[in-house]
Amino acid sequence: MPSYSGFHKKTRQERLDILMQEKTFTPEALETLNTDRNLPEPIAGQMVENHIGTFALPMSVVPEMLVNNETYTLPLVTEEPSVVAALNYASQIIGKSGGFATSVQNRLMIGQVALYDLPDLEEAKATICQHKAEIIDLANASHPSILKRGGGARDLRLDIKEDFLIVYLLADVKEAMGANMINNMLEGIKPYLVELSQGQALMAILSNYATESLVTATCRIAFDRIPGGQETAKKITLASRLAQVDPYRAATHNKGIFNGIDALVLATGNDWRAIEAGCHAYACQDGQYRGLSSWSIVDDQLVGTLTLPMPIATVGGSIGLNPKVKLAFELLGHPDAKTLAGLVASAGLAQNFAALRALVTTGIQAGHMKLQAKSLAMLAGAQGDDIEIVAQKLREGQHTNLEKAKNILEELRKNQP
Ligand code: NDP
Repeated sequence: MPSYSGFHKKTRQERLDILMQEKTFTPEALETLNTDRNLPEPIAGQMVENHIGTFALPMSVVPEMLVNNETYTLPLVTEEPSVVAALNYASQIIGKSGGFATSVQNRLMIGQVALYDLPDLEEAKATICQHKAEIIDLANASHPSILKRGGGARDLRLDIKEDFLIVYLLADVKEAMGANMINNMLEGIKPYLVELSQGQALMAILSNYATESLVTATCRIAFDRIPGGQETAKKITLASRLAQVDPYRAATHNKGIFNGIDALVLATGNDWRAIEAGCHAYACQDGQYRGLSSWSIVDDQLVGTLTLPMPIATVGGSIGLNPKVKLAFELLGHPDAKTLAGLVASAGLAQNFAALRALVTTGIQAGHMKLQAKSLAMLAGAQGDDIEIVAQKLREGQHTNLEKAKNILEELRKNQP
């Protein structure tokens, strides 16, 4: 078993060597790791219109994240320096208290056909209900390959909202996110719905409000594992309540959660806009935007829970195209979609713990500016060993900005041979 002690202080090559001791990489993944292979231009050019190049972001790992008694290496893609450090910190503390437990209640995607201009809304609803089985068969006939995989359309639900009759189709899309699959099914049933309702169809499209794909992550942290102990734990529960009652705080509380979630979603090549849209809608489910996580004290432990829609995929979209995404799945050990959903929720909860702990104790600026110092040093033009020298001098000062970084670098260069 490799030692991850002091992992963040090692060189990139040392980190890769440690990962390679533990993981059995395919030759392709090894090449990606060793040569920093990126999305090839010809593939990128086929993925989007008006392509002119590719755009890189740092990729990192948080090793040893304990979820459901298994240890995972989480790949993260983010430009924000403090995200990886915070997630690493939280995952170590939570790991020492038993790690995360996750559960996936269901994994169905929802699509909708909106009907309007109906002579009689209630009658149209009743008629469509009578033909439910036929409509489900028609949906399956529009994307038959998913049946062979054990998935397919499962249910129809109807709702009247003002003068719209909305038909919701629920489908098991197995390992995919299912947008195209559901859209095929909806397009397939649309003409029949129009015929049955004697109205018109305004649109047929997947809903990103994936309330039938909920995942929950929980953790229980012993007071003596939390710096500041019970006092800090109590303040974290207060911070959790604040995010329930104040939307201004809730938005920032949830942004912190998404620092972890987006980094993992992006690394796995998933549609992060879809995940964000669904989760923010869920945060507002009772009409007020609220924090997605909750923290409470049970016995001598701080208990955190995060429930959110997580229609994350392991196949489909651009997932198979980017070598770095393939590498991310190798690092994760090729989880299925439900397992990956649990890992994403755990990353969100860990990130939330780290942010709340910092906020209710030292504040987040100390840690942020410590990491930001390196970026400022590089922006000022520092290279190689000078980056850490300038960053260190910045950290020693009261206030850091680009001007100070430039001055420090200028002084340093004057004194260099
Ligand atoms: P794809 O269209 O790539 O479909 C996934 C395909 O993967 C399936 O058609 C299936 O093909 C194949 N597959 C292989 N193995 C499996 C498996 N085990 N389980 C399920 N499918 C499997 O992707 P999605 O339908 O998932 O759509 C996602 C894409 O749609 C994303 O790129 C997203 O950005 C985009 N999108 C998002 C929208 C939104 O969020 N509102 C709207 C429209 C598009 P087969 O069974 O035929 O072999």
